[in-house]
Amino acid sequence: MALTLIFLKIEDKTIKKKKIKNKMARNINEDMREWVGLFPSSSFADGNCYLIPGFGNCCVFETKEGLVIFDFPIRQLEKRTFNGVRSFTNKPIKYIIYSHGHFDHAFGYEPFLKEIKEKGWEMPGVIAHENCIRRFEKYQTLDKYHNWINKMQFASMGGRGQDSVVTPYEILNPTIILKGNDSVYNFKLGNTEFEIYHDLGETDDSLWLWVPEKKIICAGDLMISGFPNVGNPYKVQRYPKDWALAMEKMMEKEAKFLVPGHGRLIEGKGNVNEALSIRGEVMHFVHDEVVKRLNEGKWFEQIFHEMVEIFPNKFKNNNYLREIYGCYRFAIHASYRLYHGWYNSGNPTDLFPAKSDEIAKEFLKINKKETYYKHAENLFESGKTQLALHILDVIIKGSEDENNTTLLEALNLKLKILNEKSKEETSFIARNIINNSVLQIKAKLKLLKNASKTS
Ligand SMILES: [Zn+2]
Repeated sequence: MALTLIFLKIEDKTIKKKKIKNKMARNINEDMREWVGLFPSSSFADGNCYLIPGFGNCCVFETKEGLVIFDFPIRQLEKRTFNGVRSFTNKPIKYIIYSHGHFDHAFGYEPFLKEIKEKGWEMPGVIAHENCIRRFEKYQTLDKYHNWINKMQFASMGGRGQDSVVTPYEILNPTIILKGNDSVYNFKLGNTEFEIYHDLGETDDSLWLWVPEKKIICAGDLMISGFPNVGNPYKVQRYPKDWALAMEKMMEKEAKFLVPGHGRLIEGKGNVNEALSIRGEVMHFVHDEVVKRLNEGKWFEQIFHEMVEIFPNKFKNNNYLREIYGCYRFAIHASYRLYHGWYNSGNPTDLFPAKSDEIAKEFLKINKKETYYKHAENLFESGKTQLALHILDVIIKGSEDENNTTLLEALNLKLKILNEKSKEETSFIARNIINNSVLQIKAKLKLLKNASKTS
């Protein structure tokens, strides 16, 4: 997911911890700090398993014959991940498993590869699902596009100067490839059994690992701290129903440890069970409620607003479903898009619509900008901030970029509303979308101000 992250310079030991903490504190909240792996590495279970956070998590299993590594977190933190692993064990890596092919799970391999070459070790088996290979090909086809959308999605973490750090053209290709939807792969290392399963969830190439002897599941991004990342506004289709089924499959294992793709280890049978079951339940809920409404002949707008109203408190208040990164509102979109095309309003006006700025200009012919602004202000003052935004957009979109007092007022009020929304918003992705717009409005205001000085 993350291609461009400036904050990830934190592997640099010369940067003092306090400075990092301050920088992160400015940009992300407490929940997100855990989500991006700002917590210490540790050993767990029988002491031969290690969790090394590095944006995503890296989980290492030490056996008599060598190591199994589940995920190489993001490239920008690869030295930190490497040092973390080597602070626990010097054994060679025998197997690498990609939970999926996102940038924060399969690209931080370079120092490990260098070590293998230097020590003359055999290349480990690299295990992935066949869809991971298609994903890597897609990253090459859409490199610039992904760079662009990731800069927006992770805007609060910066994005400058990272383009050269992560390239989709440098890949450690899988050598053991799981195929099809029901594929399973088992292997034994140092008398420990490893079982790998494929399920759809955040991606179509998800693998998860079950180590029966140690009662550990490594879930990849099928489990992250907080609400599942389903329905991400920038990203391709994800799979809420299959996600629920994956959770149920994991529950059958009765694991004692659950290693998430992001965030801290979940320990204890009860906690693991609750984390999995509530996630399964919410994914079933959002999927089935959308399907019910599709069968009732409802269009997206009605489905969305009805669904927001009925979101049960047991999900809303559950610690494992906090809307840290993704959110329920996004999940409604994901479920709808599983089955529906892009014509989602039922109104033929929207089939091939006119340009929105041309529509706004027509509205401004009906009434003066000042009238719209006054109305938006009233809506804002009565707490109807979303409606106020729609009215302000008539002025902003319909006005030429001349330095016009009402346009400046409209931009300033939009800025104020978005800043308020950003403060209230818990989802990191939604917050970044809002904050990007805040930056754009500020830039536009500056431009208009400068233009008025020179004119
Ligand atoms: Zn991830």
